[in-house]
Amino acid sequence: MTVLSKRAAQLKPSATLSISAKASALKKQGKNVIDFGAGQPDVEPSAYVKEAVKKAVEKKGIGKYTAVEGTKELREAICAYIQKEQGVQYAPENIIVTVGGKQAIFNAFQALLNRGDEVVIPSPYWASFPEMARYALGAPVFVDTDEKFQLSAKDVLKEFNIKTKMMVINSPCNPTGAVFDPDELRIIAEAAAEKGILILADDTYDNIIYERKHFCIPAISEKVKKQTVYVNTLSKTFAIPGFRIGYAAAEKEIVSAMAAIQSQSTSNADSLMQEAAIAALSAPKTDTEAMVAEFQKRRDYIVAGLNRIPGISCPMPEGAFYVFPKIPFNDSVKWATELLEKKLVAVVPGAPFGREGHVRISYACPMKDIEEGLNRIREFVGG
Ligand code: PLP
Repeated sequence: MTVLSKRAAQLKPSATLSISAKASALKKQGKNVIDFGAGQPDVEPSAYVKEAVKKAVEKKGIGKYTAVEGTKELREAICAYIQKEQGVQYAPENIIVTVGGKQAIFNAFQALLNRGDEVVIPSPYWASFPEMARYALGAPVFVDTDEKFQLSAKDVLKEFNIKTKMMVINSPCNPTGAVFDPDELRIIAEAAAEKGILILADDTYDNIIYERKHFCIPAISEKVKKQTVYVNTLSKTFAIPGFRIGYAAAEKEIVSAMAAIQSQSTSNADSLMQEAAIAALSAPKTDTEAMVAEFQKRRDYIVAGLNRIPGISCPMPEGAFYVFPKIPFNDSVKWATELLEKKLVAVVPGAPFGREGHVRISYACPMKDIEEGLNRIREFVGG
């Protein structure tokens, strides 16, 4: 008999973080590991962000608690940023600053789901979506995307029923890098809004997008915006995942409930990093653009390289810094474990993302590691 609550006992720890832990343990033993597990950019934060942190340390009162939902200055900066980037207007009272985008999603599910409420999630999915929904006693309902990881509105609409409370949209998508077709997204969002279904739009990778322009769900219409909990984070765009600053924008009633939950758990996000976030959001995006241009070169290289390996096939993703190739073996956990043990290449198995026979490879690592990693995978597959 476990002492744990049923909810805690059923919660699966993050698969991405556990493969990273294994890879770093091997690195500590002096092994030359190629780490394709990373869920974070491999660049330093911008100089102006670091400078903002240094300056903020000296600010009078910086060590005090801030408002639970974040400082007024940061919430204003977030509103100005969303308006400038996506043309969507929110007021500071519609914003909550959270400990990474992760906490925004966690709070949203806790605030909105009752036992058994269905949450429609396109699959493959970021593993935390179903785990967090279940932890809030909701019931994930998965909609498979096709072999290029594209989402069909028709398939989603079939799942909408009286029990559907929410729909998750994450485009560009972790783990596939897929950018969903805007026409399909518009149909889904409008149908959801019509039926009173809430949309959780996770725009974590909105800036890491190559051929297309980002399609922002709350920009569709005022009606869709009212039904949307819009989530974003500074983690990827500004290469500061460790600073733990994310945010949500939604109707006041929802934001207030999320703030009440946060007031009983973490209280405010880090006061120092809230200052850094103002600097990041207000500056030109030159460093982000340079990072994305580099990611695009690596994406092109890794997709071409993977498709040359017999038994592996990989669609060309249009965003994020992941590829999600099909591997010549169904059991992705076994394949990834053996690849790490035999060839010291860390990839994340597809199973926790909802699709067997695939692995997630992050190309947020130096080009020479990509070249070496591809060689080792080729050897591994060749036997
Ligand atoms: N949403 C998606 C799809 C992600 O991939 C991540 C991080 O990997 C997050 C949200 C949360 O990021 P953070 O908590 O670092 O802001």
